[in-house]
Parts: sequence; structure tokens; C-alpha cells
Amino acid sequence: MTTPSTSVPAPEVWFLTGSQALYGPETLDQVAAQSQGIAQRLAASADLPVEVVWKPVLLDAGSIHRLMLEANVAPQCVGVITWMHTFSPAKMWIAGLDALQKPLLHLHTQAGMELPWSTIDMDFMNLNQAAHGDREFGFIQTRLGVARKTVAGHVDSPVVAGRVADWTRAAVGRSEVRSLKLARFGDNMRDVAVTEGDKVEAQLRFGVSVNTYGVNDLVAVVDAVADDAIDKLVVEYADTYRVDPSLLPGAERHESLRYGARVELGIRTFLEDGGFRAFTTNFEDLGGLRQLPGLAVQRLMADGYGFGGEGDWKTSVLLRATKAMAGTLPGGTSFMEDYTYHLVPGEEKILGAHMLEVCPTITTQQPSLEIHPLGIGGREDPVRLRFTADPGPAVVAGLSDLGDRFRLTVNAIDVVEPDEALPLLPVACAVWEPRPSLSTSAEAWLMAGAPHHTVLSKAIGVEVLEDFAEMTGVEMVTIDAGTTPRAFQRELRWNAAYHRLAARL
Ligand code: MN
Repeated sequence: MTTPSTSVPAPEVWFLTGSQALYGPETLDQVAAQSQGIAQRLAASADLPVEVVWKPVLLDAGSIHRLMLEANVAPQCVGVITWMHTFSPAKMWIAGLDALQKPLLHLHTQAGMELPWSTIDMDFMNLNQAAHGDREFGFIQTRLGVARKTVAGHVDSPVVAGRVADWTRAAVGRSEVRSLKLARFGDNMRDVAVTEGDKVEAQLRFGVSVNTYGVNDLVAVVDAVADDAIDKLVVEYADTYRVDPSLLPGAERHESLRYGARVELGIRTFLEDGGFRAFTTNFEDLGGLRQLPGLAVQRLMADGYGFGGEGDWKTSVLLRATKAMAGTLPGGTSFMEDYTYHLVPGEEKILGAHMLEVCPTITTQQPSLEIHPLGIGGREDPVRLRFTADPGPAVVAGLSDLGDRFRLTVNAIDVVEPDEALPLLPVACAVWEPRPSLSTSAEAWLMAGAPHHTVLSKAIGVEVLEDFAEMTGVEMVTIDAGTTPRAFQRELRWNAAYHRLAARL
């Protein structure tokens, strides 16, 4: 299997330490040694998806500015961590912060966790000044209006290290969408509103380029797939899934499975040849495709591609970004749609699914590979993987275009086992209980104008998406255990005022 390749080297975050020449070489050597130690502990303490690269201690405005310009153009640098070990007069940082175009994390920490109460002297005080040095730095960031994440505490604390790790994941996602190319096979489903959006604004905000290709351009590639490649892929299916006997070689519907393999190989080739790492399909525009792509989409999502049904490029972008943020974390991430409800009081649940396209990374079950009729699309019966998502905490996230801005709406949920088996459901699904309750979650979701297509991730939490929203300048609203409809509605109103005031004229 191929994974979407990245054109940039392994991602790095740069660790910058602020000080000034006033302290003299002896103290500055200690500052350098201790800040290297902090950078190393950070790199070792959490499952960071990036390298932490320590940079020499910064003492003046010129070197700060030069380093920020270097960070801007270094493709492997996905973000910058700053720490003022001592007192670094913040006017030195104005030009550098003003120039910085990469995500910023302000780490407010100290070399040692404990104060040496019985031996503390003025030398110790002189060396360990982050308590006020970082306040000076906080002021200038706020004065300049610099978007950033602020994390306070010792790096040996798992909470601190985890919050830094979340930010690095968001930075990897942001870096991914900066160069993302998305192919749409067909346009939007006719008359659907929420899947529309401003692609120019998306390219400015996220970097992603979204373009449509005639579906018959894809059909030409699908039709040209070689038979021996199909032979091999069908064997892989049989080794990987519980294949319905009617689809096996020699059985009556084997040709349908071979056509499903042909579609997978064709889409994969089209995406690889064009450097696309996300795509959409539309059942209203299938051209010469004989099946709506189901199995193919499911397997491409499992390999990391972004996808949205019915031309939904925004959800496809969000899915690719979320998969990049999740990296190798366990749990999985899928395209999802709120489909139908269990509304018995006290037992409320959402059953999420789609016509076909749910990603098998959200289960540890062995999926079954099946074929069933599909009225929508008016083509031959499509092959698809069927399974149920594993229980556990998760998030669902949706991106809507409000006309003057994008809004990311996130709901903390708990995926649960279905109350009973679902023997007649012909598609993969996830069943979940939204926090804080189905009624509050759904009311808040509807008030936010959030979409019916979402990304469901069991791999990352709310904070990673918060960091991603901050980095990309996108509004985010969160529905979780603390949400009430009244406060949520006020937040939406305040946000509307804020984002309109903050937007440039
Ligand atoms: Mn849909």
C-alpha cells in the first residue's frame, strides 16, 4: 500500500530561547545548557510527531529577525517554540514576531521543577527569571496581536508535555493543508447548501487548492487499469477482509468485486499522478463509472487520503488535516454523517454512517466485504466494507462557510456499542453519545450552523483542533461536557461580533 507522500522532509519544531548580552558569557553558557536540556526533555517526554531542534540562545533583534525569516522558508519547520529563560527585553522581538508566518507556542517554564529553598541566592535568582521574562514576552505578543498557544508548567509534567504535543500535531496538520491539493470528481450535489463554500478563501486561509476534474477523466484511468493489477488486489482483499462468498473467484458476483478493485486502482493512480491527497465524489455525476465508489474510498481513506461525499471538499480537507494531525496515534479517523437517532429518554444515541464511505481505521474488527443494492446513483450494486466503530472517547468536527468566515464546530462524544446487533444495516457505522447530552449537542450544533458531514476521530482530542483553528485563524466552537444552550448561543453572538471586527476591511 502506498501512503500519500509528503514533499517536505521530516517535520521539525524549532526551540528558541530568549535572553540578552547583559548577563555575561558564564551565565549565558548556563542558559544555553539548560535550554538544551529543556528541549531534549520535551523531545523525549511525549510522543511528539516532530523533531525538536534547539537553536542557539537569542540575544539581539537582528538575530531574532533572521531566525524567524529562516523559519518561514524552511519547509521542514512546522512551528516555533519560544521560552524566555532569562529577561529578554521584548522590543528585540518586535521585528521577528512581526515577520513570523509559522505557528508559535510560548512555553512558560523553568529549568528546574523545585526551588532550592535552603541554598537559593542571587545567582540562582539571576539565572532563573522566566517568571518575569516570559511576562515581558507575553506582553509583546499580545501588543502585536500574535496568534499563539501559551503553555505554562514544567516540561516533566505529562500535562505540559501533552499540551505541547497536541500543538505540534496541529502544526503538522496546518503544514499539510498549506500544500494540499484536492481533486473533485464532479461538482456539488445539486441544491445542497452546506457543502458549498468559498474555495478562494480556503486557499488563502488553509493553503489547499481545490479543483474539479471531469469524472470521465477518471473513468479513462479506471478503464485502463491492467487485469493483473486487479488479480493481485483481489487476493489482498481476500487476505484482509471476510469476503462475502458470492464475491469470491468463480462465484456469481466476482466480477463486481473485480470492478471495485479496478475503481480503487484507477482513483489511486489518478491521485498519485496528480499529487492529490484529498478528493470528493458525487453520486449525481458518475459518468462512465459502473459503481458508486465505496470500497475504493474506504481503503483510500484508510491510507490517509481526505474524502467528502457529494462534492464536499471542506470535509475532505478537514479529514486529510485530521489524519495528518493524528499521525500514527491509535484510534482512527473517518468521514461521517449524522444519520439517524435513538431518542429513548436516558438512552439517546446517534447512529452515524454514510451511503458507503466510512473509514475502517475506526474499528479493530475485521471488516466484511459485501455487496448490496444502492438505489441512489442508479448504477450497479457497489461493493463496500461493513463494520462497527470501536467504543471510546472521540470527537466529531465539521467545517461550515458562514459567508464571511469558516467556522469549525467540534463535539466531544463517546462512541458506544450499538444496543443490539444491526444485521440488516448494509453499511459501516458508528454509534455515539454526544456530550453533554443529545439534546444540548444537537441544539448547539444546529445553532452553530454546523454541517451534517463531519470528521469523526478517535485519535485526537478537542485541544489539537483548537490549536489548529488558532493557527489557521478559523473560528472554533466546542460542544462538550460544560456546554449549555444559553451560554453557547451567547458565544456564537460574541464570536460573530469579534470575527467581523477582526476581519480586515
Ligand atoms: Mn452525505
